[in-house]
Amino acid sequence: MRIGVPKESTDGENRISLIPDDVAKLVRMGAEVAVETKAGASSWFSDEDYSDAGAVLTADANELLSGSDVIVRVRKPLPGDIGLLKKGTIHISLLDPFLSPETIKQLAEAEISAFSMEMIPRTTYAQKMDVLSSQANLAGYVSVILAAAKLKKILPMMMTPAGTIKPSRVFVLGAGVAGLQAIATAKRLGARVDAFDIRPEAAEQIESLGAKAVKIDLGETESTKDGYAKEITEEQKQKQKEEMAKVCAKADIVITTAQVFGRKAPRLVDNAMIVAMRPGSVIVDMAVATGGNVEGSRPDEDVVNNGVTIMGLSNMPGCVATNASQMYSANVFNFVSEFLDEETKSFKLDLENEIIKATLITHEGAVVNERILKSGQG
Ligand code: NAD
Repeated sequence: MRIGVPKESTDGENRISLIPDDVAKLVRMGAEVAVETKAGASSWFSDEDYSDAGAVLTADANELLSGSDVIVRVRKPLPGDIGLLKKGTIHISLLDPFLSPETIKQLAEAEISAFSMEMIPRTTYAQKMDVLSSQANLAGYVSVILAAAKLKKILPMMMTPAGTIKPSRVFVLGAGVAGLQAIATAKRLGARVDAFDIRPEAAEQIESLGAKAVKIDLGETESTKDGYAKEITEEQKQKQKEEMAKVCAKADIVITTAQVFGRKAPRLVDNAMIVAMRPGSVIVDMAVATGGNVEGSRPDEDVVNNGVTIMGLSNMPGCVATNASQMYSANVFNFVSEFLDEETKSFKLDLENEIIKATLITHEGAVVNERILKSGQG
């Protein structure tokens, strides 16, 4: 089995899907791993590291795609890449499957068995393959570091002979994986942190990190069996906004992380809330790539509204590409090795396996994933 690791074709993507340590493990398990030259350069893994790990380096990107049995990458393939793959190729990557109907159609038509790493089930067993969590965790850290660098204040309290500086106030909206890491990072830097999530069970996790859980009584809210939030009603949204506006007005940094799996991100911070904040404050919209939690946020731009800077980086894990690649690669390695047949040294496509069922999107010319079919694609 030949596993191909191409250089990412999406502009600005610094990560790589397999790092040398994991290449070495796959080679030891009997796989041949081909890596495009310079594919790891932007995350500081050199061609030499890859050849030392047992990979075959190739500068011919087209041959890498057309001559591999399994392709692993971070981002979804571009149309030109899909055209090069041979029928039956196993393609493992993020696919953004609910928002990429064209890519999915092309993958089906090209008879690729395409897996979406976003769809890894949230079970204890599959946790080691969960790329959304591994990347969101790093993104949560990055959000605080970026905001702290932009803010013209320091985060911790300082008592000096020249006077006392009060700690900055950070408000984290959405306390899932990214939000909890943002809370922990802001606390480590000495900020005073408030946080809110519509899932009531998040309050305990917020408090366990030493932050204050903002209490807003929204009545009933629901979660899916995977722990994802479900969308709330218009009335609940209005109530939430009113209460959150008060906390935002006092905050120096607001970090929004709210997502609803498979849907556009909820709009939580509107113009009225922004103009009521203190000039000089910073908002980081971590949901900017899925529609944005904050009015006026734009991907990869700083927008200033009434003195408040709104940052919307679409690829925060890419800011720490070395660690993000390390985590992503571990998730991919765990996924591939789970289905690597020791005898035949090939990828065993067991269509009855729960993890395969959840993540396989296209197979033998059709869209086969139940959730994607239900969402109206295929
Ligand atoms: P996510 O990225 O889908 O959403 C981020 C957060 O936004 C969630 O906590 C969600 O409740 C919140 N949110 C949604 N709408 C909101 C609104 N209107 N206002 C405020 N907050 C809103 O979620 P996630 O971070 O990937 O994970 C969510 C949950 O799943 C967490 O409890 C996490 O611990 C759990 N989880 C479990 C596993 C596992 O069991 N293997 C793995 C990862 C995460």
